[in-house]
Amino acid sequence: MKDKILRIVDKELKMRIFAAETTELVEKARKTHNLSPVASAALGRSLTVGLLMGMMLKNNDDRLTLQIKGGGPLDGIVVVSNHRGIVKGYVNNPEVYLEPNHKGKLDVGGAVGKDGYVNVIKDIGLKEPYIGFVPLVSGEIAEDVAYYFLKSEQVPSVVALGVLVDKTGEILSSGGFIIQLLPESEKNIIEKIETNLQNFSTVTSYLSDGESIEDVVKRLTGDMEIKILDEIKPEYSCDCNRERMEQALISLGRNELDSIIETQGKVEIECHFCLNKYSFNRDDINSILGS
Ligand SMILES: [Zn+2]
Repeated sequence: MKDKILRIVDKELKMRIFAAETTELVEKARKTHNLSPVASAALGRSLTVGLLMGMMLKNNDDRLTLQIKGGGPLDGIVVVSNHRGIVKGYVNNPEVYLEPNHKGKLDVGGAVGKDGYVNVIKDIGLKEPYIGFVPLVSGEIAEDVAYYFLKSEQVPSVVALGVLVDKTGEILSSGGFIIQLLPESEKNIIEKIETNLQNFSTVTSYLSDGESIEDVVKRLTGDMEIKILDEIKPEYSCDCNRERMEQALISLGRNELDSIIETQGKVEIECHFCLNKYSFNRDDINSILGS
């Protein structure tokens, strides 16, 4: 298993890098949701950046939700992550097929659309969650998240994300990184990173060539002295359960539930993230509603 997330700083603590290989977990997401190639790329990029942003959270119970809605045929993406490398997500229309874009690549921007927004919700144990909301730039996700960091958190960031999909639909490689330089970064650090970025191809090309995510980071930092603070194995995993689904049922209200029982004999709810089904009969509903 080679999936991995790294949290890295330079010696002077003027720069931080979050980098991840996510090939196996995106393949798991693809199989779970039966994603088309362009849906795999869109959700894979979103899962990867959700994990990287999750690493910026501090506490075990903190949760990050990333919503991207752009009016395209994919009809929206939702990703939920934490700082322990656990992530889940879905797209509303996993079966979108589009022609490649003008660069011959999977048309993620076309599938997502760009008439919409990125919404970041951080549950960090406060009464109200932190919410950051910016319009989409391109629907290609990396650019949109970079814009979010700049506008909403005032942190200039380099964001790169990629998912390489085989002809069979299988995920060949997936990964990405976020580089953030502190305002007081020395000029030579900025220049070094800029030069290294100019010579940088794509994360997925290096991963497909058999490089590790550490090798990829080395391409970005060159001869700079860096320190790996965290190394975590990320995982696609859903934490849904029957109790949580009962809460969702209660919010539907008795009239709605009664009418579903009348017509279908039971109420069935499917989890968006893992597609597990939960079924409730009339007795279940009565006991949930307390009658
Ligand atoms: Zn679930």
